[in-house]
Amino acid sequence: MRTFGVLLVGWLLGAAMIVALAYARPRSAAAPASASPAAVSPAARWPAADGTSGLRPALLVPVLGVNASDLKDTFDEMRGQGRSHRAIDILAPRGTPVVAAVDGTIRKLFTSKAGGLTIYQFDPEEKRVYYYAHLDTYAGGLAENAFVRQGSVIGYVGTSGNSPVGTPHLHFSIEDLPPTKEWWKGVPVNPYPLLTGRASANP
Ligand SMILES: [Zn+2]
Repeated sequence: MRTFGVLLVGWLLGAAMIVALAYARPRSAAAPASASPAAVSPAARWPAADGTSGLRPALLVPVLGVNASDLKDTFDEMRGQGRSHRAIDILAPRGTPVVAAVDGTIRKLFTSKAGGLTIYQFDPEEKRVYYYAHLDTYAGGLAENAFVRQGSVIGYVGTSGNSPVGTPHLHFSIEDLPPTKEWWKGVPVNPYPLLTGRASANP
């Protein structure tokens, strides 16, 4: 009887260990999976619970590592000679990747006195033109008429054109295209609400 008791206790202990292991194994196997970064789409990264209007931004902030909440609305700022900015300046260290704000076609790679090294991108419907200026360099292989996906690297932040050398930034603007689709003849649209999902501070 005593031998049976020892056997029973031994058997119970063994059974308890098997049960414990069976529960422990899936938990330890699940841990690395939940710790690994899941693929997050740009839209899903948007923090919805930040007390703003809750509108999901249609555009990706076109400078890698810059959050929408870091942006400042400078659309209506005066920039000398009686003209207003009609764009947003996104400050970042020189060489920071510039990414496409939307899917679309590289319509024109252009160097101008004011904008320096610039990119004009059309959306697929050719309703709007997206302009990226003061670039340091273009992304390798970037060419006119190439289709680029939202988020793909198209250039690097710099100070080309009339940008202060000590203040590398991306000058980014959006214009509604005329029916004739001339990329230099659009009507400016404020990028700030489209990038942030917030109403403009200067309506
Ligand atoms: Zn600017």
